[in-house]
Amino acid sequence: MLQEFLDERKRMVEHQLRARGINDACVLAAFELIPRHLFMPQESREWAYEDCPHPIGFGQTISQPYIVAYMTQMLELLDTERVLEVGTGSGYQAAILSRLVREVHTVELIPTLANRAAHPLADLGVTNVFIHIGDGSQGWVKSAPYDAIIVTAAAPRVPKSLLNQLTDHGRMILPVGDSGYQKLELWQREGNSFLQETLLPVAFVPLRGKEGV
Ligand code: SAM
Repeated sequence: MLQEFLDERKRMVEHQLRARGINDACVLAAFELIPRHLFMPQESREWAYEDCPHPIGFGQTISQPYIVAYMTQMLELLDTERVLEVGTGSGYQAAILSRLVREVHTVELIPTLANRAAHPLADLGVTNVFIHIGDGSQGWVKSAPYDAIIVTAAAPRVPKSLLNQLTDHGRMILPVGDSGYQKLELWQREGNSFLQETLLPVAFVPLRGKEGV
């Protein structure tokens, strides 16, 4: 299973990630290991290593590999850390995170997508990803706080519940803006203060729910 599309995966790592400035060796290794095609619908697997997002049903997408890598790298994760992902989608981002940190909690609003994402993760023997069904715009209180939070759907404004679920020195990356056009924002908690930096322009599907749209 890990050998399938291995050449395509190596090319993706070199041309789409390393060439664009992804240089964290652990992040690059995770992308080389995790078979992206397993997280895509059967009929579109042959395009799994192209430089773009793909539909996964319910009007949702598996994000472009470069954006997944960029957001992951910007969090500067340690292998002792616990991470929350909002927007499980296909489960691919969670699988990448599973190689880099101790524990991943991922929340998905659409039950069918959450249930589907569990299959490739189980097939790969991933045991440190916990999938929850619900409104992740309010985070996942039961397992908080988190050393890092990654939101993979666009929020109209940064959700306060998510900032409150960060540990001290915790980091969060998320797309903020209207549907169709957003900017990635990186937040860091320092005690009761939050530092914010604006990064790349991106285009994500909207974050639904109480602190979404
Ligand atoms: N990270 C995903 C992956 O690796 O495939 C891609 C996520 S897709 C771009 C955005 C996902 O966010 C969709 O699956 C959507 O259903 C989910 N979503 C939107 N609003 C949400 C919310 N309030 N709580 C949890 N998931 C949400």
